[in-house]
Amino acid sequence: MKYNLKSKLSLSIALVVLLTVALISLLANFFIGNQFKDYITTQQEKTTQDIVNSISLQFDKETDTWNLDFIHTIGMYALYDGYIIKVYDLKNQTLWDAEAFDMNLCTEVMDDIVHRMQVEHPKVNGKFTSKDFSLMQNNQIVGIANISYFGPYFLSKDDFQFLDSLNKILIGIGIFSLMISILVGFLMARRLSNPIYKIVGVTKQISGGDYSVRIKEVTSTKEVEELVRAVNHLAATLEKQENLRKQLTADVAHELRTPLTTVQTHIEAIIEGIWEPTTERMQSCYDEMTRINKLVSDLERLAKVESGNFKLNKTNINLLDLSNKMVSNFEMEFKNKNLNITAIGDCPDIIADSDRLNQVLMNLISNAIKYTLDGGEIRIIISETEDTAIFIIEDNGIGIAENEIPYIFERFYRADKSRNRMTGGSGIGLAIVKSIVTAHGGSVDVESRLNKGSTFVVTLPKSN
Ligand code: ADP
Repeated sequence: MKYNLKSKLSLSIALVVLLTVALISLLANFFIGNQFKDYITTQQEKTTQDIVNSISLQFDKETDTWNLDFIHTIGMYALYDGYIIKVYDLKNQTLWDAEAFDMNLCTEVMDDIVHRMQVEHPKVNGKFTSKDFSLMQNNQIVGIANISYFGPYFLSKDDFQFLDSLNKILIGIGIFSLMISILVGFLMARRLSNPIYKIVGVTKQISGGDYSVRIKEVTSTKEVEELVRAVNHLAATLEKQENLRKQLTADVAHELRTPLTTVQTHIEAIIEGIWEPTTERMQSCYDEMTRINKLVSDLERLAKVESGNFKLNKTNINLLDLSNKMVSNFEMEFKNKNLNITAIGDCPDIIADSDRLNQVLMNLISNAIKYTLDGGEIRIIISETEDTAIFIIEDNGIGIAENEIPYIFERFYRADKSRNRMTGGSGIGLAIVKSIVTAHGGSVDVESRLNKGSTFVVTLPKSN
């Protein structure tokens, strides 16, 4: 059986409070009861002592007589309070006897107390006991008072009422705090569960393919806030991926359409006899097919490095050796454009994937060749810091406009579209560079000024 979060939380809070209230009530009852019992016991001892003292004062030593009226008043007051008194003088003659005075009243008082104590406090298990007290005046015994009351202690009507109201107050406080706690528990549970319900709703929408949804719920619970942030981040990542996928499909279709249409119209014209199949026209078709082929292999390479799980095959690499090899590979291109190239500086071997770094160097150098005018200069500078290796590819070519710099690492982005038609670029080279360098834990930056030249700076960790 599954319970929802709100009822589980409310129930647990209510249960905890119920147990606490019950425990507090029990303990309060126990301790207050005990304290009260002690208080009553001492109070009763004090009362008996007061009675004894008051009776003692009724003896007049000079005349050797007792003020019997006052003894009677004291005795009657004591009787109503539950104390049954007998007073004797030194000759053992009865001066006053409550039972002898009014037997009925005494029985009534005693029955009342016995009944009250046996019904309400059966545990006390007490009974009426009597005790003799010496009546003293100036340290001399002047008589005896026999006082009997319900022991070890008894509660008067007022005491009972007091205890009763105390219990009622305790029960009232218990019920009140239980109600408050159920309410607070419910509100707290709602505050905690509401954002979770929202998160569940949003994740359902995300799994249904709607990546644009975000949770705007503000919550003071740290974990829930982290969950909200994680779900929002997940949605944003999925949305970005989805957009990239759509963009890639659209870009690929767009990139392929132009050369394919050119080839198709050329061949159609030749089939329909409108054009002669001259070597020039066949060459143009061939060039377009080559462009398509290059684009497809570039895409393949990009897909590989962007797949996220491609493995780097790391070995010891010397960046200067790698650069010199690359320079000799491009010898023909440098000669054709009459470019001056130098590779300088050095750095100890680093640990990296040599094939992939070759690809990085190749793309950057081929760009430098493509975008540098005849007679220009290209420099490869290698250096290091404590834990990074740096290689810089610098040219004094046509440069990149400032507003285009942020986009050149995006796939299919080609700065100044018109000039790229001539150079035949597909806009994928730098995207591949960035993916490979990032996979190595490094970074690539560019500085460029239109008509002055560009500097690409690749920073790689020496080992990782
Ligand atoms: P492409 O195949 O078009 O060269 P890249 O991704 O390699 O694609 O480069 C993206 C764009 O960046 C290029 O179209 C070009 O406009 C610009 N670019 C790259 N390298 C240089 C450079 N060394 N000098 C000037 N512009 C450059």
